[in-house]
Amino acid sequence: MARNDESKFLLGVHTSIAGGLPRAVERAVALGCSTFQIFPSTPRGWRQKRPREEACEAFRRAVAEHGLEPFFVHLPYLPNLASPADDLYEKSGAALIQALETTARLGGRYVVAHLGSHRGAGAAAGGERVAAALRRAVEATPRLGVTILLENAAGTNAVGTTFTELASLYKMAGAKARRRLGLCLDTCHAHVSGYDLSAGGDGLERLLAEIDGGFGLARLELVHLNDAKAAVGSGRDRHEHIGRGTIGREGFRLIINHSQLRPLPMILETPKVGDWDRKNLRIVKKLRKQQNTRR
Ligand code: MN
Ligand code: MN
Ligand code: ZN
Repeated sequence: MARNDESKFLLGVHTSIAGGLPRAVERAVALGCSTFQIFPSTPRGWRQKRPREEACEAFRRAVAEHGLEPFFVHLPYLPNLASPADDLYEKSGAALIQALETTARLGGRYVVAHLGSHRGAGAAAGGERVAAALRRAVEATPRLGVTILLENAAGTNAVGTTFTELASLYKMAGAKARRRLGLCLDTCHAHVSGYDLSAGGDGLERLLAEIDGGFGLARLELVHLNDAKAAVGSGRDRHEHIGRGTIGREGFRLIINHSQLRPLPMILETPKVGDWDRKNLRIVKKLRKQQNTRR
């Protein structure tokens, strides 16, 4: 389990692998990150290009050299592990297995996955599809020490918009798969799904209680820090710079310094415009220094 101590704050951004996998590490280093997140390949349609061993080795070397462990691999957006369409569902399961294999070759321990959309088939049907896909992915990769982090989602037909729903998926996946499953909390997704994370809202305590009663807080491994453009409960997934959205600066001060979240790695997925990665990183570091007095 990856945990910060007070001397090292694991904070980073999602970086591009354009130009080759090792370039993603260089981009993280240039921004002063202590962790980072990547896609396993630049997806052209469905084909995930299998990286060459030299690229993997250069990547592993750069990560070790700069102390960027743990880092996170994000499943591309095309796969839909909840799809009611058999061909798409099969391809999605295969993409998850491939991402797990690539992550292991890169020396990584975590794949972050969106669970997809049930396309109107209903949350129960979608949940069963996802649980089966997770079980199969774990069974297909028995020797890989890679954990799948289920990310809470936002939007109509999305699977996993509440932590109670995620907990029932976790149960359905079975004991063997559960050992390789964890959680990623996305602040924007939670907020627009009805957990009010703005200062004064009760969303943070509510979602932590749901995690505690389901997955268990020890399985919360990563926070995606994103402010939201849309209103609380709107279901609209539009990311905003930290402090500029409907969660707001005070909301983030409470999130970043919360005793349950403060030890976790944090990754920004804020809009990639101009110099904003740098600005958002600076804001987060500043908010982290200003400790909560009330709790
Ligand atoms: Mn995500
Ligand atoms: Mn996210
Ligand atoms: Zn999002």
